[in-house]
Amino acid sequence: MTQGPGEVAQMEGPTEKCGVVGVSLADRDAARPLYYSLYALQHRGQESAGIVTHDGFQQHDHVAMGLVGDAFDEADIDALNGESGIGHVRYPTAGSVDKSCAQPFTVSFKSGSLALSHNGNLVNADEIRDELAGLGHAFTSDGDTEVIAHDLARNLLEADLVRAVKRTMSRIHGSYSLTIMHDETVLGVRDPEGNRPLCIGKLEDGYVLASESAAIDTLDGELVRDVKPGELVVLHEDGTGFDSYQLVNQENTAHCFFEHVYFARPDSVIDDHLVYEVRRELGRKLWEESGIETDVVMPVPDSGRAFASGYAEAAQDDGAETDFAEGLMKNRYVGRTFIMPTQDERERAVRLKLNPIKSTVEGKTVTIIDDSIVRGTTSNQLVSLLKDFGAEEVHMRIGAPAIVAPCYMGIDMATREELIASGQSTDDICAEIDADSLAYLSIDAVASALDSSRSDLCLGCVTGEYPYDIEGETTDRDVERPVIGGADLAADD
Ligand code: SF4
Repeated sequence: MTQGPGEVAQMEGPTEKCGVVGVSLADRDAARPLYYSLYALQHRGQESAGIVTHDGFQQHDHVAMGLVGDAFDEADIDALNGESGIGHVRYPTAGSVDKSCAQPFTVSFKSGSLALSHNGNLVNADEIRDELAGLGHAFTSDGDTEVIAHDLARNLLEADLVRAVKRTMSRIHGSYSLTIMHDETVLGVRDPEGNRPLCIGKLEDGYVLASESAAIDTLDGELVRDVKPGELVVLHEDGTGFDSYQLVNQENTAHCFFEHVYFARPDSVIDDHLVYEVRRELGRKLWEESGIETDVVMPVPDSGRAFASGYAEAAQDDGAETDFAEGLMKNRYVGRTFIMPTQDERERAVRLKLNPIKSTVEGKTVTIIDDSIVRGTTSNQLVSLLKDFGAEEVHMRIGAPAIVAPCYMGIDMATREELIASGQSTDDICAEIDADSLAYLSIDAVASALDSSRSDLCLGCVTGEYPYDIEGETTDRDVERPVIGGADLAADD
């Protein structure tokens, strides 16, 4: 937990930046399925929510600040006519925290209308914005989604849809999963490294694109597959299928391992892996690497639950006499931020969120399991809380490697200075949070749980080396940076 400016305390933890959806149906309005699927993706962004539909003649849009349930009422949904549409939930990655950056982002231009929903973060948006502004494009926000929208609109003046998307992909660099609507055609695009998730689902009367498969489940649909890195998927306007275009091929992917560790819903399948099972497997590996026999193993709710159950199961398989218990109760009505007037109160903010069950803790040796430590303030308060409730020893195990560097690909991690593990050893951190022992999971264990190699994962926040070319940072691979400039607009398709 960290303290924000003034009187507001903010819950600690990385923040996901956006969920996207797109729907094309045969014979009914897309608005309601889009609305339900945004509900399913609410965990990916709580700042704003929006839907844009197309009825064959014109676009209809409703975008508002706040949670999905607050952003729409019945009248808003009824007014969104059309059998195709896209939607978005946002937590700001790049750009302001106001409605100007809320999505889907819409543009009207000579050859039609365009709407875009973006999950991710471009690392060269400023260069493209400067170039397009020089060519006369007027920008209304400081977000990178508008940069993609303008670039694509410009390319659509000179090329057909597939070639226009390919040209834009050759110019933008960074992390992006997009749902796009050009007139009434819905498209999905995933960046060549596949950094953020995007999948395709089949409904009884159409197709859906979504950041996570849980949104497809919500619509009683069936997961078809993930959109491949570098792939463009075009949904048929009559809801009967989709076309696939592999527009960019990259030797290695850079899937965000943190999607599996923290961001995604446990009931989602991402890149062929059920997130819940990955987390349990990470818990098992955590026991194998750094297990310690204590009276009780308990999760930090809710984030540590699947890890803790895998850890406890592996411990018991090894003959350890340890109980798995829910020893910490979470107050579900505490949001991300809350008012706490004094520093002393802010430092005790964890008490608002979590309360131990005394009988589970008192006189016991305890292992608490969580998915990550960001700034370390929550961990520190948690250890002291458990000791106040009579725990004899408190050992902490973390189901991911230590976060040592920020994320530039669309996740709000904190700055290097704020990260407790940046420049500190595990022993130092253990002393700082006052635990009896502390261990993180190895990078190799994460790669193994995802059936992946290190070179196909983004590990930027745990190694400080990134899969993209980022100013002032080092990269862990050969990166071909797109060339931005007038000549590129006329590049061969
Ligand atoms: S830096 Fe970390 S959080 Fe960001 S994309 Fe890479 S793995 Fe994910």
